[in-house]
Amino acid sequence: MSAPPSPTFNNVSPLPAHPLAARSLAAVWHPCTQMARAAVVPPLPMARGEGPWLFDVEGRRYFDANSSWWVNLFGHSDPGIHQAIKDQLDRLPHVMLAGCTHEPAVTLAEKLSVLTQGALGHTFFASDGASAVEIALKMSFHSWKNRGQPQKKEFICLRNGYHGETIGALAVTDVAIFRDAYEPLLMQAHWVTSPDSRQAGSELKALADLRQTLNQRQDHVAAVILEPLVQCAAGMVMHSPDYLRGVRALCDEFEVHLIADEIAVGCGRTGTFFAWEQTHQAGENKRWPDFITLSKGISGGTLPLSLVLSTETVFQSFWSDEVARGFLHSHSYTGNPLACAAANAVLDRFAQADVVAQNQVQAQHLANALGPLAHDARVQHWRQRGMVVAFDVTGQHERFAERFHLAARQHELLIRPIGQTVYVMPPYLIDADIAQFLFEGLNATLNEVVHD
Ligand SMILES: *Cc1c(COP(=O)(O)O)cnc(C)c1O
Repeated sequence: MSAPPSPTFNNVSPLPAHPLAARSLAAVWHPCTQMARAAVVPPLPMARGEGPWLFDVEGRRYFDANSSWWVNLFGHSDPGIHQAIKDQLDRLPHVMLAGCTHEPAVTLAEKLSVLTQGALGHTFFASDGASAVEIALKMSFHSWKNRGQPQKKEFICLRNGYHGETIGALAVTDVAIFRDAYEPLLMQAHWVTSPDSRQAGSELKALADLRQTLNQRQDHVAAVILEPLVQCAAGMVMHSPDYLRGVRALCDEFEVHLIADEIAVGCGRTGTFFAWEQTHQAGENKRWPDFITLSKGISGGTLPLSLVLSTETVFQSFWSDEVARGFLHSHSYTGNPLACAAANAVLDRFAQADVVAQNQVQAQHLANALGPLAHDARVQHWRQRGMVVAFDVTGQHERFAERFHLAARQHELLIRPIGQTVYVMPPYLIDADIAQFLFEGLNATLNEVVHD
């Protein structure tokens, strides 16, 4: 076998690699990365983080505009979260959660139950988001099976949806670059139209499409899975709470579960603790999804943790004398005490500092400072939901995301566009000055990368 020709990438000459980056390229297989490309554009070696800033090994600072893949809520090196982890480290870093239990997991599950007013009072733990999605899919199917409907084993998912990249999660994900190569390995799912605020009338169309699919497959569908309010990985595609209310009503009508994947949008990101809460209206019974998945922000960007919240009805469907009717899924580090301690510190912060109310103020700072970009000729579809701001760049620009990322570094911004969508999803540490700094960095980067 001969090696493939070395990629040249339009003969772009390689950027110099710091010695640590060079070692990394040799030994670390980077995620979401064509490694041949990384040899030309080497990874940035980071040394430490403080608040919203990351510092590279040469001491240059970068504003973490994407919260390190959306996980960091209160900045890097948050003393409160760190102390909670240190205290737990000295007591009990880990113990298995089958046959044992521990205070951090119990406390966390209780707190989450309270946050859903008891509607989702049962927490199942895992370590990463994709595993939480796998768990929700398996639990939904198994719950129907336990209730005598084993044929309900199909899933409905949305165009533009992203739910992770393990094989089950990828089967309900519609992002071509992650999915295409593995298509032959994936179970078949049903796809319905994405509600997309950039296209007028798309929410009604999306609901009509969902109704049609449910009409055809009702008896075979276990669950609908979606990302409430913002389909993040597809490029911050947004929809309204009304659409979600419509989906909840359809899932009731056709007796299928609703899985709200709040891995990215949960934990205050969109203006409420759960994005789903924005579907609640005064004077009405509060309706919840049958499952909520959380990860990313739940441990404040410190340790891997994910979880699935489910209802009493789902929980009861597994309650039996028969072992095999139980949910026997497990991961080695499930409910890790350190990660749960970090999550408890995060939830305490929400309770003590009224983070949700503060975020509404911070979101307004972002709107004020970044709003002028909405009228920029190079920008279309400027949009915001809480602490997520996004816009699309007009025209076609070669290697836009990479060039924007590299140019932004020169303006102390660490930012990774998705295709031609530029977005800001910062730690919850925004004041008027920081918002203005973000505007200036984005504007200067646009000036360099996009010429009219
Ligand atoms: C990131 C993400 C996942 C996957 O989480 P991982 O921890 O990366 O496996 C699933 N769903 C949504 C909505 C996400 O944003």
